[in-house]
Amino acid sequence: MGRSNRPSRGKRQNQEPEELNLDLIRMGMKRTEVKNGVPCFVQPTNGRSEDRSKSWICPNCTVPIQWGTSHLVAWPADLSVETRRHFHTRCWEMYNGYLG
Ligand SMILES: [Zn+2]
Repeated sequence: MGRSNRPSRGKRQNQEPEELNLDLIRMGMKRTEVKNGVPCFVQPTNGRSEDRSKSWICPNCTVPIQWGTSHLVAWPADLSVETRRHFHTRCWEMYNGYLG
């Protein structure tokens, strides 16, 4: 009785599906974008600041972003994160002013 224990398929590498990368982005991966010629860091946030009474004024539309609203923070790559501004996600795409 010649039993073969050999696996018929070659070992597959554990490749991460692309969806995982999207999850990381949803969780707030920082990216770099050039806005009006200025390289900026852009980071998604779920707006769940420790201070629940917090809201932020969007520089594009001047409408406050309420606590818990997913939005973006952006700041010039050559300045400190402390200079970040909070934008509605759509507003960041339309924004054509300067940061910092
Ligand atoms: Zn806005």
